[in-house]
Amino acid sequence: MSAADRRIVVLNTGSSSLKFAAYPTTPEAPPLIFGEIDGVGGSAKLKISGTTGLRSVTAANPHAAMEVLAAMPGGPLSGDIAAFGHRIVHGGPDLKHSVVVDDATLAQIDAVSPLAPLHNPPALDVLRGLRRRFPGVPQVACFDTAFHRGHPAVADRFAIPDALYQEGVRRYGFHGLSYQYIAGAMKTRAPEIARGRVVAAHLGSGASMCALVDGHSVDSSMGFTALDGLPMGTRSGSLDAGVILWLQQQKGWPVDRVEDFLYHDCGLLGMSGLSNDIRDLLASDAKLAKLAVQYFIYHVARTAGALAVSMGGIDGLVFTAGIGEHSVPVRARVLERLQWLGFELDPVANEKGRGRITTANSRLAAFVIPTDEERVIARETIGLLPAGRP
Ligand code: AMP
Repeated sequence: MSAADRRIVVLNTGSSSLKFAAYPTTPEAPPLIFGEIDGVGGSAKLKISGTTGLRSVTAANPHAAMEVLAAMPGGPLSGDIAAFGHRIVHGGPDLKHSVVVDDATLAQIDAVSPLAPLHNPPALDVLRGLRRRFPGVPQVACFDTAFHRGHPAVADRFAIPDALYQEGVRRYGFHGLSYQYIAGAMKTRAPEIARGRVVAAHLGSGASMCALVDGHSVDSSMGFTALDGLPMGTRSGSLDAGVILWLQQQKGWPVDRVEDFLYHDCGLLGMSGLSNDIRDLLASDAKLAKLAVQYFIYHVARTAGALAVSMGGIDGLVFTAGIGEHSVPVRARVLERLQWLGFELDPVANEKGRGRITTANSRLAAFVIPTDEERVIARETIGLLPAGRP
């Protein structure tokens, strides 16, 4: 097999999904194959590039989904694998850069698993499974928290005693791989704006926003865990800590129930009582569905304002991820609320949903840029391969 056949395999493990992509080891080459197993733990479905439709597969958990990929002839885990790259949501205080995983880093990732209970444990299961199956192939961990580790102290702290900060109770910020991609894409697309102050809005089933100054993160709407900040599909977003106390003290909810509630029963789903998918809510006439959409839009706009303050002003706004890339009405309504800041929506460009969506006369520019976390993981992984390995 020639060096040209070597590949980097990227795994993005969620609580109920496993996204995958295999890239040649040449930087920036298009993926050889990519796709996703969704609905893991229930009626799992495989979607794979180069094919149409979905295939039902049996996968009780993300590790089993990885085994499905490993058993697939010509699949992403076939061929000559140079390295695996993994998305790891939480790296805690010490893992500040992507790393080649060894036993010590595995233990560090394990130790912060309680801070990302939906994401770190299944990603570790997949990583350990691949270590057993492909001993000797390097595994690289890329952290969603890493891109934010340069935040100034005011954005990195809660107003709690320093001892707890030293123990790791910090405002980490998440979706860093996505923001790293957006920062790079903005440099190419609009370099003069990218050098300035940009708010990036990653609006998907998880949602957060990031303040980028000259492509570096200086603040994030998310904090200690991915529960903070904006309302999400099923997560509450920012909540007065007193609500948690009340649920425990007055309703007698044990901590497991509170955790399940905050991650699965709140956000758009909890508010509307209807769906976690904003498309369903936008299509509904139900009062609570409308209120949930209004709440989401209100908080995206409010957070843009707050992050503009973090940066001492704002030059541009980027929408990305499922809702940000696809929802024409959400983008329009967010920008309507931000009109006073200097955003003038171009409705035709917004309908097209790619590139700049504000008018030529708009004082500030807003963009739609599809994110690509897998590409960032591939870049990081290639960057950590021993020299000459590719
Ligand atoms: P992500 O987590 O980035 O994959 O985003 C998933 C979410 O994006 C879904 O839960 C939907 O709410 C939203 N989404 C996907 N496609 C669309 C669309 N065409 N219009 C509005 N929202 C969408």
